[in-house]
Amino acid sequence: MIPALDPQAVLDPQYRDYLGALKGAGFQGEVETRYGHRLSLATDNSVYQMLPQGLLFPRDADDIQLALRLAQNPEFRELTFSARGGGTGTNGQSLNRGIIVDTSRHMRRVCAVDAEARQAVVQCGVIKDALNDELRPHGLFFSPDLSTSNRATLGGMINTDASGAGSLVYGKTSDHVLSVRAILDDGSELVTAPWDAEARAALTGRARELAESVLALCQEKQGLIEARFPKLNRFLTGYDLKHAYNPDTDILDLTRLLCGSEGTLAFIVEATLDLTPIPDTRVLVNIQYDSFDSALRHAPQLVAAEATVVETIDATVLNLAREDVSWHTVSDLVAPQDPAQAERFDGINMVEFAGDADEVEGKLIALLAHLDSGDNGAVLGYKVCRDAASVGRVYAMRKKAVGLLANAKGARKPLAFVEDTAVPPEKLADFIAEFRALLDGEGLQYGMFGHVDAGVLHVRPALDLCDPADERQLKKLSDQVAELTRQYGGLMWGEHGRGVRSEYGPAVFGELFDDLRRIKGWFDPDNRLNPGKICTPLHSDDQLYPVESPSRGAFNRRISPQSREEYERAIRCNGNGLCFNYQVDSPMCPSYKASGDRVESPKGRAELYRAWLRLLAREGVDLAQYPPRPAPLWQRVRNQFSNEVDFSHEVHAGMLSCLACKACSGACPVKVDIPTLRAEFLHHYYGRYLRPLKDHFVANLEDTLPLQARFPKLVNALSQNRFSQWALKSVVGYVDPPALSVPTLTERVADSQPATLAELERRLARASTEQRQQMVLLVQDPFTSHYDAALVEAGLTLLSKLGFTPLLVPYLPNGKPQHIKGFLDRFRRTAHKTASALNRLARFEVPMVGLDPALVLTYSDEYVTVLKEERGAFEVEVLQSFLARHLARWPARATTGRAYRLMGHCTENSVRPTGATEWQQVIGHFGGELKTVNLGCCGMAGTYGHEVANLSRSRELFDASWAPELAREGGEPLSSGYSCRSQVKRFGLKTLRHPLQVLLELLDA
Ligand SMILES: Cc1cc2nc3c(=O)[nH]c(=O)nc-3n(C[C@H](O)[C@H](O)[C@H](O)COP(=O)(O)OP(=O)(O)OC[C@H]3O[C@@H](n4cnc5c(N)ncnc54)[C@H](O)[C@@H]3O)c2cc1C
Ligand code: SF4
Ligand code: SF4
Repeated sequence: MIPALDPQAVLDPQYRDYLGALKGAGFQGEVETRYGHRLSLATDNSVYQMLPQGLLFPRDADDIQLALRLAQNPEFRELTFSARGGGTGTNGQSLNRGIIVDTSRHMRRVCAVDAEARQAVVQCGVIKDALNDELRPHGLFFSPDLSTSNRATLGGMINTDASGAGSLVYGKTSDHVLSVRAILDDGSELVTAPWDAEARAALTGRARELAESVLALCQEKQGLIEARFPKLNRFLTGYDLKHAYNPDTDILDLTRLLCGSEGTLAFIVEATLDLTPIPDTRVLVNIQYDSFDSALRHAPQLVAAEATVVETIDATVLNLAREDVSWHTVSDLVAPQDPAQAERFDGINMVEFAGDADEVEGKLIALLAHLDSGDNGAVLGYKVCRDAASVGRVYAMRKKAVGLLANAKGARKPLAFVEDTAVPPEKLADFIAEFRALLDGEGLQYGMFGHVDAGVLHVRPALDLCDPADERQLKKLSDQVAELTRQYGGLMWGEHGRGVRSEYGPAVFGELFDDLRRIKGWFDPDNRLNPGKICTPLHSDDQLYPVESPSRGAFNRRISPQSREEYERAIRCNGNGLCFNYQVDSPMCPSYKASGDRVESPKGRAELYRAWLRLLAREGVDLAQYPPRPAPLWQRVRNQFSNEVDFSHEVHAGMLSCLACKACSGACPVKVDIPTLRAEFLHHYYGRYLRPLKDHFVANLEDTLPLQARFPKLVNALSQNRFSQWALKSVVGYVDPPALSVPTLTERVADSQPATLAELERRLARASTEQRQQMVLLVQDPFTSHYDAALVEAGLTLLSKLGFTPLLVPYLPNGKPQHIKGFLDRFRRTAHKTASALNRLARFEVPMVGLDPALVLTYSDEYVTVLKEERGAFEVEVLQSFLARHLARWPARATTGRAYRLMGHCTENSVRPTGATEWQQVIGHFGGELKTVNLGCCGMAGTYGHEVANLSRSRELFDASWAPELAREGGEPLSSGYSCRSQVKRFGLKTLRHPLQVLLELLDA
């Protein structure tokens, strides 16, 4: 059995006392010190890992004020505080070893919108896309954009002065922050605004002191500031002296200093933002080139054509995008369709024009005339996207690009450390040529893309930081790139901030660096706010974090190479945070959306898993090579009731809250696959501890269903009465068991379908080749066959009506419930048996189809992981995929005007998103109109929603995404997932049809 794991992460007594005192002092938010939770905020998207002492989740500004005031007590004066928003920083900005104050959980309110004045007041934890969703009805938006807009907060954006696509027109975050409400190190409040002399004279307290000191510095160093600050469209984070004071107007604005200060000067709790009208028209032209260099060299002409956005992407990134589940949504908009051109295709420029319709049209016509003239031989073709949906899809792909970079194969993964250089745009192509030479000289793999209009390049060279040699190379390359950018008059940290790369500050700022340190000292004299970043107070001996600070790789190194490879699904999480996407209709990640707790996300669970493997390795256990045997029952009973510290309990809690919906395995850009890790974890965990009864109940369900179906009425009478439901709920912890179908599937099809596998094989063997070409094998799944037998029967009828000879494969357990519960040995046996039966059938080369997407996908996912080459080559596809391939067999029917909505299955939408479009094609072909609706998880996810412990969460998820969609008008809602239909039945009180039933109806129409 696995040993108990003590993380030995005891809190420093000062922090422990402080956090205890804070709770007693009336702090309204949560205080967290569990190791797993601390780990979840110990990483961001950078290479670094820093374990904080404790976490605070303040409810409001008063909480932050209280926390900082209490920390003024002499016994707490050593404590440090770092603000955190979405945690998407790429340079460790939000990491630290003191207290992390995470404002993203509760401080998410848009406090006021003044549409007339085009202003909004927001709390710091508001997510950028959420803000824009609220502003859309007013015809306004917050214009600085960034790739992480669906999870990065305004607090993070302000403190990194974020910007991105369209920055030449829309500017940086600091250009749109009118004032901030900040809490200073001593808990006092500072509300900034552009202050003229009169306003300054009216200031009191620290605001006055700060204003006077900064003003004097700006006036004294004006010339030096002008000379030293790079002349770029981008800001460099910490501290914007260039814009803090305007000598012409004598206006001092501390907002500018706080913007881009990376949480080193104050906590920003609220901001007043300036908003921009949403442009009338947006048109995107995707220009395809024969090389990345050609794309780069063409970019200045495109900028000169007054484009709003010019973005370039290279072939490496495009090839990674091709492998992503979302590629089918953009391929025809981005890549050449002509095979000869596709062969030469090596880079694109995305050019957007936005604004008034006539103006946009004029610019577009001019650009297209230029492209059509053939002047630029490197241009292979272009595609114009005029509708908002296509533009949105291309941008979504572009925004995913950084994450996709990390999806490279092998131990060396693309890493963020020189990824946001900025140079004057006219020098970009030459700079990139030198940069590439540097990387090529080191033999490194990399992909590139960037905001060419602003001279910003994104590149992530691939390194393996588990290898100390690569760790040294990271530092060497960092130094070289810092130097190269300086030679080009640019910056190493041109977009994503400085963080743990602050050591390059003195070289960039020269003698002004001491002035930055003075500013730090005025705001934060004891270096307690996010220490180690930007600079230290002038007279302090504290040090900045060096670039060689401990990395995740250094922690992972303690896990054996075999385990690192075996459990790569956890190790590969790079913290880009896409799993924190706030939109309810995005499938990843339902448990995080419901709880708001980062531990209950794919990232949080991957972090738990990594730490678990590391702690096991410390105890001499290497799961990949020497997995321990389960303990005998008596020992498990003893372990269950012991009070021993064991980190596995924290991992267990994190894993239990996962719905095993598989959304992460498809939607995470690097395919972190928590259900697979979870199954393995539960397998080992329950080798040490006792399993709950409900797990056995779920794992045995598939095997007992055929037996139950022999006496369906009796079983239903026993299971569907109040007493047995109460007993099932109280003893087993299971609710709302569905009733078995009556008549059963066997009763419905016994006359026409083979009773045993042997009989089916005989029929197939007897059939001629021509007969087999008409045959289709319908593979059963446990739930549809036993609880919705009419649907299986309808499936057989449909296939017959379409001219096929359908044969029902006698019931074979699928094993998914066993896998979900981590009965891995049993799952392996089930999968082995079923796979060999399906392989035997596959010899007859008759297509095999299934009805429930989640269970069909198990054959191509969990079966492959567990059985490896033993799985064999059989294929089972979802019904609609088979039908879509054969559409040419049937003449298209005229439209009937009947409208439907397919409420997508979250697993299928994430792992195989073409499923919904295939249904659309098929139903459209037969005269129906099917809209596909992307929703989050319905909350059922197999048996998850049936467990008492998950009931309220299950309901919450249903109410958040499915219930509103069901309430909407417009087309009959349909669903292809058995779980989803049963969830709707119990909470939505409706019966949803499967799309195949609609198809049958259309055939009869
Ligand atoms: C895949 C990917 C793509 C990215 N693309 C872009 C891009 O296009 N453009 C861009 O600019 N950046 C980009 N970034 C970097 C990152 O998303 C931005 O820096 C973003 O602004 C960080 O926001 P956050 O809420 O995640 O902040 P965090 O990472 O949590 O924090 C960032 C900094 O802000 C400070 N902070 C946060 N909240 C407060 C507060 N209330 N008060 C004081 N300090 C605070 C933190 O201490 C920290 O120093 C990208 C990152 C990733 C992973
Ligand atoms: S789990 Fe995936 S999406 Fe989430 S942070 Fe890790 S890599 Fe990003
Ligand atoms: S399987 Fe679903 S619930 Fe579990 S971590 Fe992945 S996305 Fe979240």
